[in-house]
Amino acid sequence: MSTFRSWLRVFGAREHNLKNISVSIPKEALTIITGPSGSGKSSLALDVLYAEGQRRYLESLSAYARQFIGMPKKPDIDRIDGLCPAIAIEQKTVSSNPRSTVGTITELYDYLRVLFARIGTIHCAGCGRSIKAATPEAVAHLMIDQHSGQNLIIAAPIAIEKKGEFVRELEDLFAQGFYRFVIDGRRVSFRSRDDIKQLNLKKTYRHSIDLLVDAIEATQEERPRLVEALEKAFSLSNGICRIIRGEESEIYSMARMCVDCGVSAPELEPRLFSFNSPLGACRRCHGLGTVFSVASFRERYEQGDEALGEAPCPDCGGKRLAKSALAVTIDQKNIYDLGELSLGNLALFFKNLSLSAEKRHIAERLLREIENRIAFLCDVGLSYLTLNRRASTLSGGEGQRIRLATQIGSALSGVLYILDEPSIGLHQRDNDRLIDTLKKLRDQGNTVLVVEHDIDTMRAADYIIDMGPAAGVRGGTVVASGTPAELEKNPESLTGGYLSGRRRIEWPKAVRTPTSWVTLNNARANNLHNVTVRFPLGVLCGVSGVSGSGKSSLIMDELVPALRSAMIRGKAYEVSKVEGAGVIQDLIVIDQSPIGRTPRSNPATYLGIFDEIRKLYASLPESNARGYGVGRFSFNVGEGRCAECSGEGTITVSMHFLPDVVMTCSRCKGLRYNAQTLAITYKGKNIADVLLMTAYEAAQFFEHHKPLARRLQLMCEVGLDYLALGQPSTTLSGGEAQRIKLVDELAKRGNKTLYILDEPTTGLHSHDIERLLDVFKRLVDKGNSLIIVEHNLDVIKTCDYLIDMGPEGGNEGGHVVAEGAPLSLIKKPTTHTLRYLAELYKREVV
Ligand code: ADP
Ligand code: ADP
Ligand code: ZN
Repeated sequence: MSTFRSWLRVFGAREHNLKNISVSIPKEALTIITGPSGSGKSSLALDVLYAEGQRRYLESLSAYARQFIGMPKKPDIDRIDGLCPAIAIEQKTVSSNPRSTVGTITELYDYLRVLFARIGTIHCAGCGRSIKAATPEAVAHLMIDQHSGQNLIIAAPIAIEKKGEFVRELEDLFAQGFYRFVIDGRRVSFRSRDDIKQLNLKKTYRHSIDLLVDAIEATQEERPRLVEALEKAFSLSNGICRIIRGEESEIYSMARMCVDCGVSAPELEPRLFSFNSPLGACRRCHGLGTVFSVASFRERYEQGDEALGEAPCPDCGGKRLAKSALAVTIDQKNIYDLGELSLGNLALFFKNLSLSAEKRHIAERLLREIENRIAFLCDVGLSYLTLNRRASTLSGGEGQRIRLATQIGSALSGVLYILDEPSIGLHQRDNDRLIDTLKKLRDQGNTVLVVEHDIDTMRAADYIIDMGPAAGVRGGTVVASGTPAELEKNPESLTGGYLSGRRRIEWPKAVRTPTSWVTLNNARANNLHNVTVRFPLGVLCGVSGVSGSGKSSLIMDELVPALRSAMIRGKAYEVSKVEGAGVIQDLIVIDQSPIGRTPRSNPATYLGIFDEIRKLYASLPESNARGYGVGRFSFNVGEGRCAECSGEGTITVSMHFLPDVVMTCSRCKGLRYNAQTLAITYKGKNIADVLLMTAYEAAQFFEHHKPLARRLQLMCEVGLDYLALGQPSTTLSGGEAQRIKLVDELAKRGNKTLYILDEPTTGLHSHDIERLLDVFKRLVDKGNSLIIVEHNLDVIKTCDYLIDMGPEGGNEGGHVVAEGAPLSLIKKPTTHTLRYLAELYKREVV
């Protein structure tokens, strides 16, 4: 342990379930906090370390600023020594703003805008020809370089194919001493003003008139005279000039203007490429890329499309930018085209970009910055994303990894970074690169603290803090801490057991045989390459593949809607899109979306447990004596709840321009009920005490009440034993919400049901995964089918059948690359998943 130079020390932490613990975390090192779900990892990392870091930061602000923000409460701790500024990189959804894209949130788009403004090639938005702003020096240079020794006539165009008599204009020029012209292809010299009158140009005809400024040989010696003549010509004809070489003639413009179309190009500045700026945004859709349309509405409504009535903008075709912005290119690609490339291909584009020495010089630093940032994003496993991808369509894990890569790009040091399970959604292959990124963040001089269950991440860490031993009140202590090697040797540490291989999830002895098959035809969503896939029923089927390979697209965007339609519309539909769905009696998709959107819902209300509990309290003799019914014990309505906060437990103070401040209700102290209601007790606990119980405590407390005890027991089995019954739904993680839905379904005891789950191991320690797998086994044994999208190899190896997507992410994915029983597939490990699975098999079995 002497290898660490300095430590961050926490003394006497009692927040949530933490049992007055003292913890030391090495600074400028990569530390993992692990342990069973609910053991207190986030309480230590986020509610103690991050909260205190934030509080100290706010304290350092002026009193004036603080009066608006209000001070968060100090975590329940004695003290922390050695704390540095803290940044939490969380999984929160990035943004629901339709203008946010991967490009804008990573700032890469901002860099590209500057790049296009500096070195972009302008094209005429009309004819597409490239336009270049000329200067007298540049034109002179070009002439001497390319037409050395030739005779040049420098002319100032007075009219180009323009109607008029031009008497006034020519007389003015004659008065200034100019008398040689080319008029409609004929050379003329005027000796007097009368000559001009005698020209007799027809007013209704189009005429071309060039004033001849000088005739010069294109040589080095004549360069000063040439520049002077060009300057004069440009100034006489508003920034354009014509050079006549024998039969040839060209027009040069000082303005960015297409001389053929007369279309002028705007000044190149970064704002021109911003769809958030009036200058750059498409004039029709104002940069949204879509317009609201009532016509493409009805059809979409019938298909159940979520983007109700939105259609791509007919002017920009969804590209969001004005024509003049799209007409600027680098290596023949405009800024939208670059945004359509996957980050992996964008990296290649810049690697192969050939630029003139001048442009390379201008853009050198900018290019280095851009290439670095793209590389960081690829390193965290996001090479399949495009810059144009809307932020609102990203998963929480993708959003978190984007923030991680962005932090590395901005190169801070001396910071405490806190991450919550960054491996979510990541294939083992991409995980290796994520670990490198975490190390890079550390090597920039930061303290990196990661809440994580992934064993490989732990092996790569400098230090591990193992919390436990179990969840909730049975957790809250540090069971073991030390380097990975030290932890492996520690018999106290559950995690050490998995690290060393002493404990592990066993490979199945036998696989089940499918009872029948469902065939999904011609799946094309997102990156899927028109694939037809057979799914087995009556077994545990895993869907694997590197991030972005198309797993969610296949299951959530194709299979689920197809099965739903087949179950509603019956046979006729079945034949074309999906076959064999007839044997499925029920389809249940258990995703990670919230179980409720208000703090008034919680696990107990969602699972119907709370109704049972209220019935129990209403049936007590004391309730009968006072005339309290079931409604008395609701915090949503009626006279049982606290009148001050209407049963919310909190009071929200609106701060107008700043985020609302939420305070605990001073009357009920957050208990939600009034004193009369709280006077009713069962086995010494009132209704508010029950809401504060964890599922584990409640399962023991209510063990003699069968329907209640069964659901509470199921909560423990899916690894939710630590969860408080009354924890507001809005504060549950995606994984927790998913497991609560699973409990609800399990309690229904169906069979012939097809369950579809998306990464159910999110937030689970290996020990909890073992228990969850038992639940899955029981479901299949009862005659149900499971399809699980997963990265966790312990789950994949337990599957009866595996569908592996790939071979890569994004456009290079979208195919089924392996299908069958995992044990037979690993004999020929041809895919990324199978390679990792085969290695695991070698380690654990052979
Ligand atoms: P982990 O991160 O290890 O899964 P947590 O730190 O989230 O565990 O939770 C530890 C314990 O603290 C659990 O019993 C949990 O229910 C409780 N807890 C978590 N958040 C709160 C909160 N905001 N208020 C009260 N208890 C909480
Ligand atoms: P996986 O589930 O295997 O990680 P996905 O099915 O989510 O992969 O993604 C497959 C491909 O489709 C990726 O290139 C991804 O960027 C793209 N994609 C996924 N969702 C969307 C969406 N809503 N809009 C546009 N592209 C998407
Ligand atoms: Zn109250």
